[in-house]
Amino acid sequence: MTIAIYPGSFDPITNGHIDVAIRAAGIFDRVVIGIYDNPDKQLMFTLEERVEMAKKAVAGIGNIEVMPFTGLAVNFTKKVKAQAMVRGLRVSADFEHEFDMAMMNKKLNPELELVCLMASPEYQFLSSSLLKEVARLGGNIDDLVPKHVAEALRKKEGA
Ligand code: ADP
Repeated sequence: MTIAIYPGSFDPITNGHIDVAIRAAGIFDRVVIGIYDNPDKQLMFTLEERVEMAKKAVAGIGNIEVMPFTGLAVNFTKKVKAQAMVRGLRVSADFEHEFDMAMMNKKLNPELELVCLMASPEYQFLSSSLLKEVARLGGNIDDLVPKHVAEALRKKEGA
């Protein structure tokens, strides 16, 4: 059985993330979306909220599941017995960061393969941070996230 983890902050999960997870689920038998508990970023949502929103977003898809994780993603990979790590790449901005992380992860676990999927054209510009900014300023985000995520963002902003 081929298993991949798709780790990230998912603060919150967007249609760009979901697109990558669904495409990965067409390649691997099982995809585990790993939600990192404490990234070096200012978060809007708690770990529980991020997990709940992601779970709801992929609820109908049999071979995708969502799990929180603490510490190194390579250790989480071992825990779920994944052979690969999936990441999404948007234009050139993500590449250098992903490349450095991939090299470090390879050092930490030489057996782990990184699989990068190119972001779909309609989501190239979409990031959780830009999304939060647009939501904060009252812009329409309905095409960019599932309905329950848009509602959660509006609730956070008190809109
Ligand atoms: P991280 O904090 O690890 O960067 P993110 O939640 O921001 O976590 O992103 C998780 C992964 O999803 C990363 O590989 C990122 O490049 C990718 N990603 C984010 N947004 C998109 C998108 N719109 N399309 C494709 N991949 C994306």
